[in-house]
Amino acid sequence: MLKVAVIGAGVSGLSVASLLAAAGHKVSVFEKNQKIREIGAGIQISPNGFCVLKELGLSENIFKNSVHNNSILICDYHKGKKLLQFDQRSVLGNKDFRLMHRADLVKILYRSALSNKVTFNLGYDADAKSLSNQYSFVIAADGVHSKTRALLNPIKRKNRRSDYFAWRSIVPNKIKHHNGVRLTVAPNKHVVSYPIRGRDQLNLVLIQEAENNEIFEWGMTERPEEIKRLFSGFGGDLKEALDSIETAHKWGLSSHEVPVNWATGNVFLIGDALHPMLPFLAQGANSALEDAFVLAKLITLLDPSEAADKYHEIRKPRLSRLMKQIKNNAWKFHLEHSFFRACTHSGLRFLDKSFPQSASLPFRWLYNYDVTKLNI
Ligand SMILES: Cc1cc2nc3c(=O)[nH]c(=O)nc-3n(C[C@H](O)[C@H](O)[C@H](O)COP(=O)(O)OP(=O)(O)OC[C@H]3O[C@@H](n4cnc5c(N)ncnc54)[C@H](O)[C@@H]3O)c2cc1C
Repeated sequence: MLKVAVIGAGVSGLSVASLLAAAGHKVSVFEKNQKIREIGAGIQISPNGFCVLKELGLSENIFKNSVHNNSILICDYHKGKKLLQFDQRSVLGNKDFRLMHRADLVKILYRSALSNKVTFNLGYDADAKSLSNQYSFVIAADGVHSKTRALLNPIKRKNRRSDYFAWRSIVPNKIKHHNGVRLTVAPNKHVVSYPIRGRDQLNLVLIQEAENNEIFEWGMTERPEEIKRLFSGFGGDLKEALDSIETAHKWGLSSHEVPVNWATGNVFLIGDALHPMLPFLAQGANSALEDAFVLAKLITLLDPSEAADKYHEIRKPRLSRLMKQIKNNAWKFHLEHSFFRACTHSGLRFLDKSFPQSASLPFRWLYNYDVTKLNI
């Protein structure tokens, strides 16, 4: 039986803690907040993340608290007209792609950890170095501003500002939003919308390129009038949804090259601490779940240095490919030049009429991956 310390009680910390405790290890989670913060807004759980939740025995609970994503719809912002819609079920089989509130996911993972006898130390600002003397392994799931990443990678300490801002809001679902993810694209900005919580609520993520003066915290609020001003060009029924925003959180997005050192001694990085990413493929939580599964297996089977090598070998190629695809999406979503926009939109309309399912091709490697079936 290993004695493991986990720093951070977000999606990665809670999932790795649960997986390890379920395998019989003694796990303590250290969280700097006084409470497990069941906050946030919508989160997409794609099949590659869902299979880890299934492994934890949480499928039923996730189903109850989420909406099935039946298709992806891409629209132009001006009048909200459809450019392309594709159903992913034909390529993903019956695999589940769920849309839910982050707070509900965190609550489910927290309960799972408690039932697996994980112990929690709340209000504890943990330091990986001192914990590493007391535990067989320390897993740093301390998020986008990870102190541990900086400790393990002293040269590239800082997050890279991305000059993107995200606003997140949840409004009553009064428009006829389909049961899936809608991406509405505009020059320099886009909106992602999807229903959550029994389809009663509509999750809105609004992203715009803008100079970011190092504002990276969750929890800042924005005046609804400011959002309406910034996104005033959006028409169709999305305008109605944007007009109904009463509260919104503003979030400066940051990203980071995947650092050189993923582990030192018995200290390992995981989730956003290892690879903060822009949300253009909604993979932050899903990648965190994949990391959690791989790392929980490896530290059970191997000594720290072998586990570190294998962790890097398994996760690096996939994370690098993901980061590359995210970068590509960033400019495609925000095409500014009217000529390029017109050409791209004609291409999407043509695809919609001729062979819409082919639009899912670039995502198959991502969603059809089942980390729980890896031969570790
Ligand atoms: C408050 C919040 C709200 C979010 N809302 C959304 C959302 O609505 N939609 C979405 O798609 N994504 C959201 N995200 C991001 C998403 O949850 C993550 O990208 C993804 O789930 C990976 O999670 P993580 O566990 O690696 O990191 P995080 O979710 O960031 O969790 C890190 C945890 O570590 C704790 N921590 C940090 N330093 C220390 C320390 N020194 N000692 C102890 N504890 C420490 C933090 O308090 C935090 O609880 C949110 C993140 C946060 C923190």
